[in-house]
Amino acid sequence: MPPLSALILQASGLHRSTAVTALHHLGYNFLSEVSSNALALDRLRSMGGVHLLICDVRIDPVPRLEFLQTVARERLAHGVVVSGEMAPGTWSALAHLLQLQGMKVFWLGNEAATLERLRTLLADFEPQAPQRSIALRDRGSVDDGNMGLALERGEIRAALQPKVTVATAQIYGFEVLARWHREDGQVLLPDQFLPALRRGGLLDALLFNLMGQAHDALRAHGRTDLELSFNLEAEQIAQTDFSASVERELQRREINPRNVTFELTETSPLHAPPLSLENVLRLRLLGCGLAIDDFGCGHSTLQRLVELPFTELKLDRNFLANLNTGDPRRLIVLTNALALGRELGLHVVAEGVENASQHRQLQSLGCEAAQGHLFGKPVAASELSGLLRGTPTRLPKAEVIAPKADSVVRLAE
Ligand code: C2E
Ligand code: CA
Ligand code: CA
Repeated sequence: MPPLSALILQASGLHRSTAVTALHHLGYNFLSEVSSNALALDRLRSMGGVHLLICDVRIDPVPRLEFLQTVARERLAHGVVVSGEMAPGTWSALAHLLQLQGMKVFWLGNEAATLERLRTLLADFEPQAPQRSIALRDRGSVDDGNMGLALERGEIRAALQPKVTVATAQIYGFEVLARWHREDGQVLLPDQFLPALRRGGLLDALLFNLMGQAHDALRAHGRTDLELSFNLEAEQIAQTDFSASVERELQRREINPRNVTFELTETSPLHAPPLSLENVLRLRLLGCGLAIDDFGCGHSTLQRLVELPFTELKLDRNFLANLNTGDPRRLIVLTNALALGRELGLHVVAEGVENASQHRQLQSLGCEAAQGHLFGKPVAASELSGLLRGTPTRLPKAEVIAPKADSVVRLAE
């Protein structure tokens, strides 16, 4: 593990020296201390970001909140410990905003950052190198013209992340995520190359390519009974012949549509056009599932939920991220989102389960399914054997045509 880096933004004094000592003990050997936002930004930019930021919001809270947003936007820190007083509503909104941009957020309150306190607070934090340098470098080097070639050469590979039954933690399927394995050895994440694929009109080519890879991997393990989920974007389902091409592709590869779920992420605030509805209805009639992805975030809202014939509701990972911050409203929101899914007869999947306490909480709330690092990070098709060992064979999915109260897909254990 490379040396860990941290920056402390706090007025000098006893609290700051306590934090410095504690961070040293926790292995943060590259430490920087500053007391102004401008200096902190300069320092962070010149360091290319840090693993952890400790930020006091007691003094000038408004400029400091703006500072935190800049840090998140520019990916200048992987985690942030916020200290100082803040109203619960303001804190929730801030934490949510920062988390949406991929930051891990921890709340210290008015306490000093002692070793004991930081150790507890950061128990689940896995510091990752700040993404700034990588993100900036790659944005420049992803040339739209390369993407078609990358697909043809098989450089875009499927990574499979387990979806599990909450009660038993047994795998019943996988979400298929794209990874670009470049010739120079770098592996890029979707947010670094999807925009180029989108601009090049290559999202369907990507989808069909990943369908082939993922299904071949399950077939190689004799486990075509497991469910595969693929991500779709709104513009794909708005094409005239989309469902017909999917149908052809499923037939050509002899994939059972009942074992396929499409996850739809919404980025547009507009209503789905009639053509999209027609396409998803056809996919549903074929037997495919349709999930509303990242529910509770952005435009994947109630309005969208009732517009299209969904079978699955994927709760955005922010529902879980803040459960243990002491804000009771988080639990109320999660409980109600689960109840809503259940009432609508949807299969509810909680995303971003990272620790055992979140898993236990989902068990006690009766959530059916989950996904997250606790159960497995996305793995290459070649690494599936380890995950599948001991996973019992799944019974065929019950026929589900329209979402209704008794049509919840029951998973075989
Ligand atoms: P998504 O569909 O919400 O996928 C889940 C993302 O959360 C994945 O990021 C996954 O690696 C990450 N994740 C899973 N479990 C955890 C966890 O416990 N904690 C945390 N912090 N993260 C977790 P990834 O692979 O970077 O994908 C990002 C997004 O890119 C996906 O979000 C999806 O919207 C999009 N995407 C990925 N593959 C494809 C694709 O083949 N086609 C399209 N259209 N979009 C794709
Ligand atoms: Ca998804
Ligand atoms: Ca998601």
